[in-house]
Amino acid sequence: LVRIRDLKKSFGAHPVLKGVSLDVHAGEVVSIIGASGSGKSTFLRCINVLEMPSGGTMDFEGFHFDYEEGARRAPTAGQLRELRARIGMVFQSYNLWPHMSVLENVIEAPIRVKGEAPADAVAKAEELLARIGLAEKRHAYPSRLSGGQQQRVAIVRALAMQPRLMLFDEVTSALDPELVGEVLSLMASLAGEGMTMLLVTHEIGFAREVSNRVLFFDQGVIAEDGPPGEVLRQPRSERLKQFLRRVL
Ligand code: ATP
Ligand code: MG
Repeated sequence: LVRIRDLKKSFGAHPVLKGVSLDVHAGEVVSIIGASGSGKSTFLRCINVLEMPSGGTMDFEGFHFDYEEGARRAPTAGQLRELRARIGMVFQSYNLWPHMSVLENVIEAPIRVKGEAPADAVAKAEELLARIGLAEKRHAYPSRLSGGQQQRVAIVRALAMQPRLMLFDEVTSALDPELVGEVLSLMASLAGEGMTMLLVTHEIGFAREVSNRVLFFDQGVIAEDGPPGEVLRQPRSERLKQFLRRVL
């Protein structure tokens, strides 16, 4: 589904991604772990071009982007819009639009970006909200919801676009501990339905149980890549051993 080769990103003179290559197959759940500052968020943001990469290539569903200097294959504005319609992203802070009700948050992009008929968008949104048990909150404003409820709405809002790939960046880190479980179980059920997911997480237990692969980011490169049983149980590098000792 996604093929990334030698992806690079620098901020000024500071290289943050130093050549990341990754294939993600349809239906795969890939967890990214690594120390603060290792480039995990930057990598996700480069995939849907919230950051413009400084080098490398990406193929995704018929798109071919080349970010090498001088290449003429950087995404156009139209391609960016299409790319982001097919890649859902959820962040640590819930980012719901505060001036819109839960329902309005969920139907906004399908109507504005995809041109869905409002009645269809509402029907689909209500189905999604029912699934997460928040149908009766559809007219509430985000500030009236708990953090866990807001984050589940943020996930559902992304799902309303019927994305082919979901990116999650530490979506449970800002939540009170008792609210983490409800968000993780929604993500686990998406994984079970075959959604392709790339997630940055500090929830090592979740990474172990739900993902097909775990990537360890270290100083801007993928230092280890394998099934969770290998990467988490038999880390090869001293740096990953140290990291796991700190977070477990
Ligand atoms: P964390 O676990 O703390 O979220 P991370 O692995 O997600 O860390 P990134 O957010 O990708 O790390 O940041 C990697 C490096 O890039 C950091 O040194 C950060 O300061 C730098 N960086 C990120 N975004 C920018 C930016 N917009 N401008 C300048 N530097 C940035
Ligand atoms: Mg981050």
